[in-house]
Amino acid sequence: MEKTKAVPQTDCDKECKFLFGSEFKTMVYYQPMYDKQGNLISKDGNTISGACNCIVCNKHWTYICAHDNTNFTEWSK
Ligand SMILES: [Zn+2]
Repeated sequence: MEKTKAVPQTDCDKECKFLFGSEFKTMVYYQPMYDKQGNLISKDGNTISGACNCIVCNKHWTYICAHDNTNFTEWSK
């Protein structure tokens, strides 16, 4: 489990706490490529999608994560 995670940007003035549900990750294998220093230079093209909600203000988001960028979409009930 990662220590930090991308969370939704919210204008909520409360101490938001985001509860994440189960995630779905595409499982395509991308061959990793490294430079001379051993740094990973290829990108994993898999995407992770899921949903979360703020237990303080009761807002919901779905998100999709690709290339370390997470896009949140708020949805209202
Ligand atoms: Zn909130």
